[in-house]
Amino acid sequence: MTATKKKRVVLLGATGSIGENALRVIAAHRDKLELVGIAARANWEKLAAIATRFGVKHVGIFENATLGTARENSAAFPTDTKFVGGLAGLVELAQLPEADIVLVAVVGTTGLQPALAALAAGKDLALASKEILVLAGKFVMAEAKKRGVKLLPVDSEHNAVFQCLEGHPHAGVRRIVLTASGGAFRDWPQERLAHATPADALKHPNWSMGPKITVDSATLANKGLELIEAQWLFDLQPEQCTAILHPQSIVHCLVEFTDGAMLAQLSPPSMTFPIQHALLHPDRAPGVEASLDFTKLLGLEFRPVDETRFPMLHLAKQTMASGGAAPAIYNAANEVAVAAFLNNQIPFLAIPRLVEHTLDNIPNFEPTGLAAILAVDADARRAATAALAHYKL
Ligand code: MG
Repeated sequence: MTATKKKRVVLLGATGSIGENALRVIAAHRDKLELVGIAARANWEKLAAIATRFGVKHVGIFENATLGTARENSAAFPTDTKFVGGLAGLVELAQLPEADIVLVAVVGTTGLQPALAALAAGKDLALASKEILVLAGKFVMAEAKKRGVKLLPVDSEHNAVFQCLEGHPHAGVRRIVLTASGGAFRDWPQERLAHATPADALKHPNWSMGPKITVDSATLANKGLELIEAQWLFDLQPEQCTAILHPQSIVHCLVEFTDGAMLAQLSPPSMTFPIQHALLHPDRAPGVEASLDFTKLLGLEFRPVDETRFPMLHLAKQTMASGGAAPAIYNAANEVAVAAFLNNQIPFLAIPRLVEHTLDNIPNFEPTGLAAILAVDADARRAATAALAHYKL
């Protein structure tokens, strides 16, 4: 065996839920992984603690006002810390010469340019931010192919599909099935959904995540975005990407081959499993959490998704069939709708209505590049925001 070189990791989005789990993985595998750069939106105190704990010298802060505060408090960081700020700072970190792999886990569209920058610099990319592939899947996949770098999905379902597909020819794949827990409202009758509050939506049965994605789990928009992502990641047709309800969140995907055989990937519902897989790939090492315990009864249940109760899934499939900018419009309108719902501005059931309204009102087209994508993203946000008044509580 050759001596193993530590993989040097840049973590964009170090203070969020994915970031925290990534740090658990890195801390448990310091012989294999070394954190060399971190970034967050604004939480400089938490960044200082992480930088000190892991000896990180490159620190990025997205909000420029906070960057100034961090610089004034540089005593809280390791000596010789190099601070970078804004989107340019995130791009700089993504291209850090000493980095081998960049984990992009920043919220929203902010991760798009840093992800493309990492690929352009020949870094392997571990992707946790859904928006990157939903908005720019075509460009990101083309860039990864051109540079010959690895693109490792961190989302649990996509990481699961990646694991099931490894070593299998693409032509042998009939379809993939992503599992959905069904979120907080899985068993709620339609009538009750009209009165669902943000507090109700945030009670996710299996996963502990940020508020936006937890609401997306309750509407199944999260699964819709994941189907769109899967299409790009695994080079599939829209009809080859499907979803089923699986309340236990233990089977993360099923891959069906042309002969009817299926492979599944199982692990407890914790993000440390896919994060560790992506960061150590192709190596394996003991996980930071216990694996499934078969000395206890383990029931696994699967049922079809009722798309009339979960219109966000249906709308996502429509955007996949339409192609072009439709998935980006869906994503942007959904972000506006979820933020408004969390602010008690619109009812839960207005989320899909606002998204559908926005999709109907912005002409679809085939974006030719990043600028066009970001422009349609902004247009969709404006249109959705302007339409909020029609759906007010
Ligand atoms: Mg997921």
